[in-house]
Amino acid sequence: MPQVLIVGAGATGLTLAIELLRRDIDVRIVDIATEYFSGSRGKGIQPRSIELLAMAGLADEIMASGTLYPFIKLHFGPIGIKAWSLGTHLPPSEDRPYPNLMMLAQWRTEEILRSRVEALGGKVELGAGIEALAQTSGDVRVTLTTGEVVTAEFVVACDGGRSTTRRLLGLQLLGSTVDAKTSIVADLEMEDLDPRFWHAYPLRRGGLHSLAPLPGGELFQLQAPESIAANGLEAGVARMTGKKVRRVIWQSRYGHQTRMVDRYRIGRVFIAGDAAHIHPPSGAQGLNTGMQDAFNLGWKLVSAIRTGDETILDTYEAERLPVAATMLNLTRELHSTVSKSRGDLTNQLGLSYHGGPLATGRTSGDLRPGDRIPDRRLADGRRLYEAMRHGGATQIVDTGGDHILVRPDGYIAEIGGAEVTSYHGHDVVHILAVDCSA
Ligand SMILES: Cc1cc2nc3c(=O)[nH]c(=O)nc-3n(C[C@H](O)[C@H](O)[C@H](O)COP(=O)(O)OP(=O)(O)OC[C@H]3O[C@@H](n4cnc5c(N)ncnc54)[C@H](O)[C@@H]3O)c2cc1C
Repeated sequence: MPQVLIVGAGATGLTLAIELLRRDIDVRIVDIATEYFSGSRGKGIQPRSIELLAMAGLADEIMASGTLYPFIKLHFGPIGIKAWSLGTHLPPSEDRPYPNLMMLAQWRTEEILRSRVEALGGKVELGAGIEALAQTSGDVRVTLTTGEVVTAEFVVACDGGRSTTRRLLGLQLLGSTVDAKTSIVADLEMEDLDPRFWHAYPLRRGGLHSLAPLPGGELFQLQAPESIAANGLEAGVARMTGKKVRRVIWQSRYGHQTRMVDRYRIGRVFIAGDAAHIHPPSGAQGLNTGMQDAFNLGWKLVSAIRTGDETILDTYEAERLPVAATMLNLTRELHSTVSKSRGDLTNQLGLSYHGGPLATGRTSGDLRPGDRIPDRRLADGRRLYEAMRHGGATQIVDTGGDHILVRPDGYIAEIGGAEVTSYHGHDVVHILAVDCSA
């Protein structure tokens, strides 16, 4: 019997699988799709997601595959004006090794995550959807579309915006529609369109009309109201750009809603990613928030399985539900204004669990319990994030003598406590002589 059954192998489910497999948890991961997702859809990876991927040893591949967000070119008929970029173009600093929003097609992000799942001994089982669910106080029984009944200690619903698991749990998505119109997202091969720019067409009515160059320079991601395809997608895009569409590689429709569930845990079943909260694309938050759910829940499931004490699992909802609510407000605001960034809120570096159930002790300089631990060069030449790849908790003794206990997901658990060897069932690795408050 697997200890954890993950339903849905998108970015959320794959990230969770990595967080569990690298800590030796027995995982099954099933997906109703019969082939892997092939579209560019969620193409913006935020700095905080890359930092957490760095702790899982995956940042180098993400950085090598992605590109910085290009500048936008606004087209007014025959006139094109270079405008702003939706991402920053900052150099790395000591405490922010990945300061910029990176562009990477969602299929490629998922491919990188899936290869790591496989390297850790896991496997995505395609063509196996959830159909029914029943739980006792000790386990969960899930009936799959293949007819198989899987019994697991815990189940995590990562099955996306139309989550079947959410329906089986009786949870509702609460919230509102930001824009009633449906839009199209498509990956297009264009003839003679400059791949150095994200092309936008502000004179077109009905919402955002744009073509963003994807890494590799051959394909563009179209985002436009569905009406663009009224007389065929190729004809509509050709009219908008004055350029020919060579090939439509992939296309899909999406709505503009901000909705979320009001519970993240029903007994032994948890809900994460788009299954728990749906966002419009503005601000590039959906996939990133789902990955953050997975980083938060992963080590807590490991704690509960190792120690038998399941109380820590309640902190998943306590910490992540308010974050989703903040992100939904942010994306709603970004959708209705021309501004596209809110600095440390959109890049998720300012995300903090300060004041939450796991944050204790006093502050130290700018650092508060619950905050992200900034990266730092260590005395032995390594970086802190590199030294935190062990998967457990870390206790830092800085030059001022402060103990800073860091959770396995890179947030500060406690400042100023005694030296400890274990944190909720995770070994604690000690790192000496780093001044974190400087
Ligand atoms: C145009 C557009 C642009 C976007 N841009 C960004 C961006 O720049 N940055 C960002 O962070 N987000 C962005 N998003 C949002 C992002 O795509 C989603 O938030 C992300 O895909 C959510 O990941 P997930 O793993 O939670 O869900 P999904 O990616 O939806 O994955 C769910 C998985 O569950 C499987 N599944 C479904 N039903 C079942 C079932 N019954 N049983 C088993 N498996 C099932 C599906 O096959 C799928 O593989 C964008 C979205 C759109 C539409």
